[in-house]
Amino acid sequence: MLLKHTTAKEIERKSLTINPAKTCQPIGAMYAAFGLHGCLPHSHGSQGCCAYHRSTLTRHFKEPIMASTSSFSEGSSVFGGSANLVQAIDTIFTVYNPDIVAVHTTCLSETIGDDLTQIVSKANEDGKIPEGKKVIYCNTPSYVGSHITGYSSQLSAFVKFFSTATPKKKNVVNIIAGWMEPSDMREIKRVAKEMEARIILFPDMTDVLDTGLNGKYVMYPKGGTTQKDMIATGDSKFTIGLGEYCTQDACIKLENKCKVKFEVDDIPIGLKATDRFIMSLSRHANVPVPDSITEERARLIDMIADNQKYFYGKRVALWGDPDTLIPLTEFLISLDMKPVYIVTGTPGKPFDERMAELLKDIPEAKYKSGANADMFQLHQWIKQEGVDLLIGNTYGKYIARDEDTPFIRFGFPIADRAGHNYFPKTCYTGAINLTIQILNALMDHQDRVCPDEKVEFQM
Ligand code: SF4
Repeated sequence: MLLKHTTAKEIERKSLTINPAKTCQPIGAMYAAFGLHGCLPHSHGSQGCCAYHRSTLTRHFKEPIMASTSSFSEGSSVFGGSANLVQAIDTIFTVYNPDIVAVHTTCLSETIGDDLTQIVSKANEDGKIPEGKKVIYCNTPSYVGSHITGYSSQLSAFVKFFSTATPKKKNVVNIIAGWMEPSDMREIKRVAKEMEARIILFPDMTDVLDTGLNGKYVMYPKGGTTQKDMIATGDSKFTIGLGEYCTQDACIKLENKCKVKFEVDDIPIGLKATDRFIMSLSRHANVPVPDSITEERARLIDMIADNQKYFYGKRVALWGDPDTLIPLTEFLISLDMKPVYIVTGTPGKPFDERMAELLKDIPEAKYKSGANADMFQLHQWIKQEGVDLLIGNTYGKYIARDEDTPFIRFGFPIADRAGHNYFPKTCYTGAINLTIQILNALMDHQDRVCPDEKVEFQM
């Protein structure tokens, strides 16, 4: 058993991370690229990086992940990958014919110092980019940040290469989606439609990474934010970014480039974060909140009230990405649960500041962010004083097994369960789904471990 021998005793470590709570930058850039219609992500580096990024996304989404690579050899590793990328652009448009190629770098091409602006200009001058087609790019050195940093950089590239302001502003609100599932994006679009708010959502992975099987292979599925909509984001009257780590940079870029004012909210996970999102959308799209949404909220409240005794005081350990951990922690607190251990491998001050505020009434809570925040230390904390529930990605299954603790898969990657890209966790309906998962995990555990005389028919 991988983590069986983890000890409760912590030894200070400065230069060793064991099972980091993050993954590599280009995975985020690759995922975000699927949110543009007709876009092929391109990995500028060695084949191994691209294979790893594709397989990680394939395992999570259970969908074929198409991406190309500059296929660095020993020569390109020494002399630079300019020739490889120019050749790749030519081959991609000739063979695979996407509308857009979204190039991101890797550790290797960043270390060499390849200049993407210069290389893509050369490809253009050489006539390798056909009329009407686009090559966009972003830098994603994986020795800093995490997959979240890469996702954010790709969104900034969308704004840089597409968003355009004309003199006429439109009564439309941009919603920039932080890292979430296609099911969550579908739910946000459904809620906006219910409110009759006019929005442009980007990126939009619905009908790209949650497509059905109809016997026909389509390399570029019908979903994704269209180029036309992406260009029009410059004419929208406001932008709501969902998740500070993923969307703030794109919001700022859009304001600087096209004078579109913005607000960054949390991803609407749980009651309070959804309340804030709904009110923000209502205010900026200038639409009322319809009764149907208020009724969805009431159903969530009812479910929380009916089952409060199961939530009260339960200690929870969480790991994953800061933009989801922040509203998730807030939601657990509003359920009267105790999020006591929280780690994210993504660095940044906002996580620490928000956690300090959210956890001020739970003195035993510990949290950590950045490269040294790892699953090993999280397990050590759990060894010191156990928890009732684990919430995080598949990497926690070894801890769950070792500690015999209920475990809910949440976040990225989820390689050993299904349904995450079909059932939302955002907005009130998503919060109901999450609440059901929490309840079922706790109740299943109780049924399994309690002595025979304590088994309850009615729980
Ligand atoms: S070399 Fe860098 S970019 Fe490639 S897989 Fe490893 S961490 Fe990711």
